Amino acid sequence: MTINVEGKLINGKETAAAILREVAQDVERFVKEYEQPRLAVVIVGDDPASHSYVHSKVKACERCGIGSIHIELPASTSEEELLERVDGLNGDSSVHGILVQLPLPPQIDQQHIIERISPDKDVDGFHPYNMGRLAADKPRFVPCTPQGIIELLDRYDVETAGKRAVIVGRSIIVGKPLALLLSMKGGHGNATVTIAHSKTVDLAAVTREADILVAAVGQPKVITADMVMEGAVVIDVGTNRITDPSAKKGYRWVGDVDFDAVVQKVSRITPVPGGVGPMTIAMLMKNTLTAAQWAQRAIDEQ
Ligand code: NDP
Repeated sequence: MTINVEGKLINGKETAAAILREVAQDVERFVKEYEQPRLAVVIVGDDPASHSYVHSKVKACERCGIGSIHIELPASTSEEELLERVDGLNGDSSVHGILVQLPLPPQIDQQHIIERISPDKDVDGFHPYNMGRLAADKPRFVPCTPQGIIELLDRYDVETAGKRAVIVGRSIIVGKPLALLLSMKGGHGNATVTIAHSKTVDLAAVTREADILVAAVGQPKVITADMVMEGAVVIDVGTNRITDPSAKKGYRWVGDVDFDAVVQKVSRITPVPGGVGPMTIAMLMKNTLTAAQWAQRAIDEQ
């Protein structure tokens, strides 16, 4: 029996492009009345993957009419120096969103930086204030990757209410905030959520329970076909670079899911690349526009 793989795909690339067009229209309207929304992107060191992510974010700003400031700092930058930069951006009223690309070099405590960014400019949604708002069912800035996943489920009419969702991975960037969103009262939530991680016993038994299975681990093929329920919806967040001599660059990107085998069993699945990745960037643009709108509202209310 041949499987219609194309018909099962959740196309993040197309969806993200549609969202970027929507954001561009909203930015155009906003700029006519107020000022241009601006995002500051700070990168420390020369990790090629981080530079490539930052490049994509700056390009997305251009596509949406959002201004960007790109600050590159050497790998030797001290925590004090980076905190000073963040303070400067916090105090600059022409900057509406601040993103410090993670990971940071070992001499810098990531959490200190996250906590120094003004919660009003925290377009990544990692500040404890914004995390707390999410946990309290009163979200403000929501981390971009989980927000992008919810947007995909919504736009592909994947019901979450009453469904069993299993998220493999408990990072503050993906797993935890996604669990909060999926279990939220109302919205695209109301799922019964389980978070699995490296200490989970019999992971396959847990994942087989999932109507919606999210893999956010960072290991190729950690989710195999025997771990997936027939008809499940699978969201693959993993972004793993593997060597491939047949590829032009000598490598290619794969997710955490053994795609070719798993696709046979599922009702819907996100590919890697072209699934969750582009949605993350689209949500960052949305959050930056929102930050500018909220800043403007605060000025109007003074
Ligand atoms: P982290 O390394 O912070 O978290 C990985 C999680 O996976 C941890 O909770 C870890 O458990 C768990 N884990 C590790 N091994 C296993 C295992 N064998 N079985 C079950 N759980 C396991 O990663 P991130 O959340 O930051 O990222 C996850 C993946 O998603 C990466 O590939 C990353 O590149 C990708 N990513 C993609 C994005 C996108 O836009 N497409 C955005 C962000 C991330 P424990 O907590 O016990 O260590």
